[in-house]
Amino acid sequence: TQMNFSGGPGALPAPVLRQTRDAIEALPETGLSVLGMSHRSAWFRAVLDEAEHNLRELLDIPRHYHVLFMQGGSSLQFSMLPMNFLRGTKQRAEYIVSGYWSAKAPVEARHEGHASVIWDGYDERYTRLPQADELRLSEDAAYLHYVSNETVEGLEFAEAPGLPGVPLVCDMSSNLLAGPIDVERYALIYAHAQKNLGPSGVTVVILRDDFARRARGSLPTMLDYRTHIDTRSLYNTPPVFAIYVLMLVTRWLRGEIGGVAAMAEINRAKARAVYGALDAYPGFYRVHAERSCRSTMNIAFRLPDTVTETLFLEAAQRDGLHGLEGHRSIGGLRASLYNAVTLDAAATLTQWLTDFARRYG
Ligand code: PLP
Repeated sequence: TQMNFSGGPGALPAPVLRQTRDAIEALPETGLSVLGMSHRSAWFRAVLDEAEHNLRELLDIPRHYHVLFMQGGSSLQFSMLPMNFLRGTKQRAEYIVSGYWSAKAPVEARHEGHASVIWDGYDERYTRLPQADELRLSEDAAYLHYVSNETVEGLEFAEAPGLPGVPLVCDMSSNLLAGPIDVERYALIYAHAQKNLGPSGVTVVILRDDFARRARGSLPTMLDYRTHIDTRSLYNTPPVFAIYVLMLVTRWLRGEIGGVAAMAEINRAKARAVYGALDAYPGFYRVHAERSCRSTMNIAFRLPDTVTETLFLEAAQRDGLHGLEGHRSIGGLRASLYNAVTLDAAATLTQWLTDFARRYG
């Protein structure tokens, strides 16, 4: 069997893949292929409704938050956020830069207004996250932006930063649905699908109604959150296929897994096993993240030299373990343990890491 430990797009649950394969041929409900279904059909309205309902149930999303299905990936959110909430204000937006992805966000904000980086982990090669007392937060920021899980470096916030009165915005692309979150701490949450939610092509945005209404000025229609709120994500043709598969994933998470708390248990067990194997050979495997900031989703690590890393990747691939190469920005290796990676797959990887260290360490 082949196993996928890729950082993104990640694996999808096996039962969802089977249902998807069938739906490409013919949907059980309509007898037609999902790929040819109209976004104006009653069938798709029901898919959208179930996807939203499942997300609300899984994450306990209150009524005064909207759930939107958008396109453009998380990268477009880097721009839409300041377009809607920074443009035309005298306020500054605050950004925590804790890795490759969070570093991209303030660059886009500067096109729209004043963005300040209030903490930057660059000089420490993004090996740790800030402590609360290191953040110089101001009470009157337009918003505070951070990335809850740094996909490339494998750093995950244990707790949300921020001040009570300041709208908190979070890119949860690589850990939404991996465990429970307190939605009410946030003004806006976004996450593209291709880690824990489904295939690429759709991005989920969860935003508080009063914050959304604060958006100012005239924006291009497609780039204004209010367009997507007012049309319930049906302003133009949405990515029907991606939303359908996302709906199947949320159904699987509620049914087979039993919710995000149960998912978090499984994710912790997977991460514990893999980190355990790496920590057992400290002179051989070196985890990128400081211990207190370790991610349950992405484990970035290195071997003593790049020759051994190449050997590692070749041997892993031969044994059916795929996607273990590190992100092109930092190199090295990375094991991603998104929701669809089973306990069995994590156990196989754990054993494989141990065997490899015994042989070459
Ligand atoms: N934010 C995070 C945390 C990511 O991991 C990624 C990509 O992996 C992005 C943003 C960019 O996402 P997209 O490719 O959907 O624009």
